[in-house]
Amino acid sequence: MHESPITADYVIKGAGAVGMAFADSIFTETDATMVIVDRHDRPGGHWNDAYPFVRLHQPSSSYGVNSAPLGTGATDTIGLNAGYEELASGQEVLSHFDLVMSQTFLPSGRVHYFPMSEIDDEGVVTSLLSGERFHVEAGRFVDGTHSAMSVPSTTAPTYTVSPEMTCVAVNELSRRAPTFDEFVVIGAGKTGMDACIWLLNNGADPSQVKWIVPRDSWVLNRGNVQFGEAHFARLCKSIADQAEAAALSDSIDEVFSRLEGAGEISRLDPNVEPGAYHCAILSDAEMTQLRSVGEIVRLGRVVAIHADRMELKRGEIPTSQNVLHVDCSAAGIPSHPETTIFDGDRITLQWVRTCQPTFSAALIGFVESAFDDDETKNRLCAPIMPPTVPFDMLRVLRVNLANRSAWNNYPNIGDWMTRSRLEGFSKLAQTQLAVDPKAADHLERYLSHVASAMANLDKLLAKSDGGVPQ
Ligand SMILES: Cc1cc2nc3c(=O)[nH]c(=O)nc-3n(C[C@H](O)[C@H](O)[C@H](O)COP(=O)(O)OP(=O)(O)OC[C@H]3O[C@@H](n4cnc5c(N)ncnc54)[C@H](O)[C@@H]3O)c2cc1C
Repeated sequence: MHESPITADYVIKGAGAVGMAFADSIFTETDATMVIVDRHDRPGGHWNDAYPFVRLHQPSSSYGVNSAPLGTGATDTIGLNAGYEELASGQEVLSHFDLVMSQTFLPSGRVHYFPMSEIDDEGVVTSLLSGERFHVEAGRFVDGTHSAMSVPSTTAPTYTVSPEMTCVAVNELSRRAPTFDEFVVIGAGKTGMDACIWLLNNGADPSQVKWIVPRDSWVLNRGNVQFGEAHFARLCKSIADQAEAAALSDSIDEVFSRLEGAGEISRLDPNVEPGAYHCAILSDAEMTQLRSVGEIVRLGRVVAIHADRMELKRGEIPTSQNVLHVDCSAAGIPSHPETTIFDGDRITLQWVRTCQPTFSAALIGFVESAFDDDETKNRLCAPIMPPTVPFDMLRVLRVNLANRSAWNNYPNIGDWMTRSRLEGFSKLAQTQLAVDPKAADHLERYLSHVASAMANLDKLLAKSDGGVPQ
């Protein structure tokens, strides 16, 4: 261990999207110094381990750090995202964080970055290569790993695989696919969806693709999360529809049916009740593509891949050595319980807006810089545990509405949101509400429902068992 510790105002554990977005706000809003430590050799967290064809599923304009653009702001004109704002590739996301680190943070002299290093909760940093250790003394310890991802390339599957069978992480799909006749995609999260869409888009016949779907998911409609002027009325309609459904429904079932009717959420098969919700976002064209998959297997999770059959929780299906089994079963976002965000000398980064990890971390950074006491900061930043089951959609909507209402009481937050690249709505509202009467009507509808939405959600959530909607 080095004799003298390194000192900084903040030490940040994790240079993933969340750690970087927080650091960027502190960098922009204050003169503070920071130490950032990460096990990876580049910033960007799980994007370093992602499959080659990964893309954001939300527009690039609302992901990354606040102070630097991601992408060009273009609208796609071809493909399954045509008509919608561009979706950065994994490489673009990595390059975005890399440039922020190498061109902004490090040249300033205010940020020290230790890649390929691990930090423990006492602030001891250990190099993963040399084993050298030193201590960081910081005003605040920032945990950027609370919502860290698990992805297939770094997470072993929980099922067993006979040695003669081929089962690869999704990262291997494009390299291995040409030598197989059939494909079984294992896992129904966004990664499994991406694998099916990649196969169909690259020429596989739908009859060659089987998809193991242990639980169907509700997915969000990408058309409702666009941040260009032309889409502003639809964005306002979306928030108004959510508040209205929450305010006027007599049961949790009714909220889902109103949201589905309004085009807010959709599912693979209208006859199958979803058992999962993870904020996956699809365009209508992607959903149509997924519905064409040759066979959807709903027999629960895979237990084992034997030489001639796959054993699942509730049954078996045949398989063979001509089949490429594609593992997409990693959990994604782990569901650690929420914890207080600002707590003495510790900040634990979590979502404060639904499905918006980088906006959330950037806002927490701003609140840290703009307010003095933890009580106020925590009042403005109620944590949102990422959703896993459909019921969670309403739980997170409730906290989302409350946080949004709390922010409305502080002009400095309103001003920051208007300047924020990651917050599409406030900027557009400034210019568009005056010239877009449809948008203004929807916003009025939102405002007329928001208070009763929160009260009704409290009632509905208290009555529910917290599981799948009854
Ligand atoms: C395929 C895929 C697509 C996605 N698309 C979107 C999208 O379009 N929009 C969206 O909002 N979200 C998306 N997400 C989710 C989103 O990326 C994550 O919520 C967010 O980026 C996670 O970032 P993170 O910083 O919390 O975690 P991570 O990316 O997991 O980063 C955590 C970092 O902490 C480091 N670390 C952990 N422990 C230590 C330690 N002790 N010492 C040092 N370092 C440590 C790790 O090395 C890692 O680099 C996607 C996720 C996946 C898997």
